[in-house]
Amino acid sequence: MDFFLSKIRDLAIWLKIRNIFKSLRVRFFIVVSITGLLSCLVMHALILQSYEDRAVNVKSTEVQTQLRILANHLITYNYLQDTSSELINAELDMLANLYDGRVMVINDDLKVVKDTYNISQGKTIISEEVVNCLKTGSKGTLSKYDSANGYIEMITPIITTEVIEEGDISVGGNSNEVVRGVLLTSVSTETIDNTLDILSQRATTLETLIVLIILVFAALVSYALLKPFDRITSAINDVKEGFTDKPVVGPNYLETEQIINAFNALLRRMKVLDDSRQEFVSNVSHELKTPITSIKVLADSLLSQEDVPNEVYREFMSDIGEEIDREDKIINDLLALVKMDKKASGLTITSVDVVSLTEVVLKRMRPIARKHNIDLTLESNRAITAEIDEVKISLVIMNLVENAIKYNKENGTVKVELDADHQYFSIKVIDTGIGIPQDSLDHIYERFYRVDKSRSREIGGTGLGLSIARNAVLMHRGSIDVQSTLGEGTIFTVRIPLISVGTK
Ligand code: ADP
Repeated sequence: MDFFLSKIRDLAIWLKIRNIFKSLRVRFFIVVSITGLLSCLVMHALILQSYEDRAVNVKSTEVQTQLRILANHLITYNYLQDTSSELINAELDMLANLYDGRVMVINDDLKVVKDTYNISQGKTIISEEVVNCLKTGSKGTLSKYDSANGYIEMITPIITTEVIEEGDISVGGNSNEVVRGVLLTSVSTETIDNTLDILSQRATTLETLIVLIILVFAALVSYALLKPFDRITSAINDVKEGFTDKPVVGPNYLETEQIINAFNALLRRMKVLDDSRQEFVSNVSHELKTPITSIKVLADSLLSQEDVPNEVYREFMSDIGEEIDREDKIINDLLALVKMDKKASGLTITSVDVVSLTEVVLKRMRPIARKHNIDLTLESNRAITAEIDEVKISLVIMNLVENAIKYNKENGTVKVELDADHQYFSIKVIDTGIGIPQDSLDHIYERFYRVDKSRSREIGGTGLGLSIARNAVLMHRGSIDVQSTLGEGTIFTVRIPLISVGTK
């Protein structure tokens, strides 16, 4: 049990740490701090390195100059053959002491003739550099810095200038420089190392200070820079909690402004949706209430009268029946509309013969047309097969033709024209009816919109027919257009892709 508890505790701590690292603020802080720290370290290393290089260079040049002078003195006093010169010995010791080093004079037999440490005198030196210098007769000096052991090793050739016998024309001059020996010197770099240590200590102190300043700066900046995000979160929370429905505002960065704009756009859209939902609900209740109110009025007036004649009863009852039919129609239309709102995923696509489908719909509409003395015709000069939802497209045709009949004049005509190109098929419903006023054309697809409410009610309109038709067309990714001349007639044109564009 304890084991599990401790495991759960570990997990909780781990999750907490993970959440901390998810914070933009913490990440920003870490990135700034690491950048500052790394720059300090690189600067530290570079400065110390360049100081060391420069100090070693200066020191070896200085010592080499002294050694060259000394090498000349060695030749003057013939020291390679005779090491008894007090002056040279003193000079050698002085140099060794001055630079806290060791000087060895080596002749051309690789023998040490003098060692200021007095250890290697008489011994043979087989150092590669010394051998090379003597063998090749190289006149240049050589310095080698051994930083691990803290010394610079220098090789200085001891050179004599010899006059060449006349007649020797193999050499291009009359004097020749010959390497007679070598000065092998090692000089301690302790002073450089000490300075380096002091420099390093100071740099470290300074860097610690800089790093501390960077940490404080990073903390302050990350706090301040990300503050607008906190403001946005709290503003969004206020909207969420319902304290306000005002769009979020605030002086911000470009990025936060984009978030705010997107959020405000979302808020506006939600408001539009909410308004339209409320309007829809109030419209629905109003529309549903109207027939019920009529029924209630009819029933009440029947009940309030005594000895009502049979015909009156019949008349009232038939009116009540009509209102019930109306209610039924509204409910059916609403159900059809709700189904359409479920987007294109609700389509049942099959390959449909559009001409026969239209014929079937028109056949159903003929009795109503006949009742109004309206001539209903179909014109189609080609066979059309399309991938569509049969039920929904027949709803479209039915609603358009029904309107063309309903809003027609006595003895008018309704013509349905079918046509197709290689991509779309079109259905045109042309009537010779009352027409639609221009300012109503933009509204006729709205739910419950009717140009003339009382007339529409009279002829049994719900104001939902065109809404249903348009939704069905849009689900097929088609288009619906209307042209109308008041008093002359209306043309509705529907265009639908022959091949279903996808049922997403
Ligand atoms: P309704 O059930 O009232 O017919 P619709 O959504 O089908 O509802 O149509 C909306 C309104 O558009 C109708 O009330 C009517 O005023 C007008 N309308 C539709 N089709 C025609 C047409 N062919 N001719 C004249 N007016 C029409």
